[in-house]
Amino acid sequence: WSSGAVQRERTLAMIKPDGLSGNYTERIKEVILESGFDIVKEAVVHLDAERASLFYAEHYERSFFDSLVKYMTSGPVLAMVLERPDAVLHWRALIGPTDARKAKISHPNSIRAMCGLDSEKNCVHGSDSPQSAAREISFFFGDVRSDTVEHDEL
Ligand code: ADP
Ligand code: MG
Repeated sequence: WSSGAVQRERTLAMIKPDGLSGNYTERIKEVILESGFDIVKEAVVHLDAERASLFYAEHYERSFFDSLVKYMTSGPVLAMVLERPDAVLHWRALIGPTDARKAKISHPNSIRAMCGLDSEKNCVHGSDSPQSAAREISFFFGDVRSDTVEHDEL
């Protein structure tokens, strides 16, 4: 008996307002599917300041916080749940470093190199850990565990 199905994992991906308004959605989705992810949920959402602040609560003390909230509320975003083995790490690798200017030099094939502008306007988001992914998927789509209810059978 071999180990059977490889464990799949989910992560939260988001195309930020500049990515959507710059018409990068189709190209980004192609990269996602070519990279072995399934897009299991998606929703276009226009965050208000309260929701954007909640999403980025960990950065509340940072000097760029107000500007970040302004950016994230400047237009709709596309939130997606991506699934594949090691989805969190793979999606972070695909999007590249936070600062799109650095991405263009060090990770020229990354998504942020393709459609990002600078350290703020970097066109996409990816959860940074499985714990963040669970929180962020719940944020957009409700409780992630509700569709994988555990049973005490066997
Ligand atoms: P990441 O999105 O790569 O996980 P962070 O969690 O550090 O990066 O930051 C969240 C978001 O805040 C970034 O994606 C970017 O839009 C913005 N941001 C991060 N650092 C800066 C900065 N130094 N100046 C302006 N905006 C920033
Ligand atoms: Mg982050």
